[in-house]
Amino acid sequence: MKKIQMVDLKGQYEGIKEQVNTSFQQVIENAAFINGPEVQQFQKELEEYLDVKNVIPCANGTDALQIAMMGLGLKPGDEVITADFTFAATVEVIALLQLTPVLVDVEADSFNIDPEAIKKAITPKTKAIVPVHLFGQAANMDVIMEIAEEHHLFVIEDNAQAIGGNYHSKNGKTYKTGTLGHIGATSFFPSKNLGCYGDGGAIFTNDDDLAHTMRGIVNHGMYERYHHDVVGVNSRLDSLQAAVLRAKLPKLDFYNKTRRKSADTYSKAFQGEEGVITPLRMGDADTHVYHQYTLKIQNGKRDALAKHLQEQGIPFGIYYPIPLHKQKAYADSRYNEADFPITNQLVQEVLSLPMHTELEDEQIDFISKTIIEFLKG
Ligand SMILES: *Cc1c(COP(=O)(O)O)cnc(C)c1O
Repeated sequence: MKKIQMVDLKGQYEGIKEQVNTSFQQVIENAAFINGPEVQQFQKELEEYLDVKNVIPCANGTDALQIAMMGLGLKPGDEVITADFTFAATVEVIALLQLTPVLVDVEADSFNIDPEAIKKAITPKTKAIVPVHLFGQAANMDVIMEIAEEHHLFVIEDNAQAIGGNYHSKNGKTYKTGTLGHIGATSFFPSKNLGCYGDGGAIFTNDDDLAHTMRGIVNHGMYERYHHDVVGVNSRLDSLQAAVLRAKLPKLDFYNKTRRKSADTYSKAFQGEEGVITPLRMGDADTHVYHQYTLKIQNGKRDALAKHLQEQGIPFGIYYPIPLHKQKAYADSRYNEADFPITNQLVQEVLSLPMHTELEDEQIDFISKTIIEFLKG
């Protein structure tokens, strides 16, 4: 059996080696390292793949979220509602822009922001909602968009973990995640489902005016060379990263299918096992792209299992061990523990298993058997 890795980027590279090497060579020959043709071509190809009018490449997923909030013209004091159970990037940019983060609880089965909790948190100062499609599962966008419409709020989808996933709206249409809200933000961090070989990110929107505004913001607020109309940032995707992404994008559906197959193999192995809850798919198979395969380990055994896996040389991740509302940087006297029962429980139960495009059935079998035996013992 091959050594088990949490993510296997080297193995994945083998399948795109020639294309990546050739394009790298070309980028170097052309010396158009910033905003070269590779970046523009990738932008077009991603627009087509997502069926969205505008993709704006940028330097990373955190910037993508920040630029989205700047593009919407959110002002200090505006409240932005997001999930308590997610990576800190989302709440970080809200705070950096001096907006007021309002963290709310998530749903126990989907791990995603709870629409009922959103409704409860809305005040006259609320301006935006940032649902995160956590672990690759789309949040309940139909309901979130309804809430947003009713209260005239913007929706920024944090799609960093769900690129390539589908959402079947009750209007009968199927959308790519990240294209339902006013803006979608994503990350091309190497371990994401569509990852480059460094940092990268992108913003999506069907709103042409908003796209124009954000294209200026990513480039120092310039709409005409050396005319700075708004305060911007410097956030670019470089040509080498775009070359990697162009090699991988045509394979993204295959990559996600492979992840789904591994997830199904895991779930089958754990079926009927006491004390293990496998991740629930909230709809058709194509609505989950398994950025992570995350179990809930019940009966207080998660930490002991984690220790056992470590001893057995099986990699795992605990995403996320601390609710955001309990983080020093984001603590706020407005928060009430009673409002976060699900997140407070999830942080004690979640355990993510190796998940990548090169995972083999033999490895899944070994991992699941090790877990089942430990929990029985
Ligand atoms: C990875 C990630 C980000 C940040 O992306 P970077 O490219 O690392 O800045 C934001 N939100 C979520 C949910 C993520 O998983």
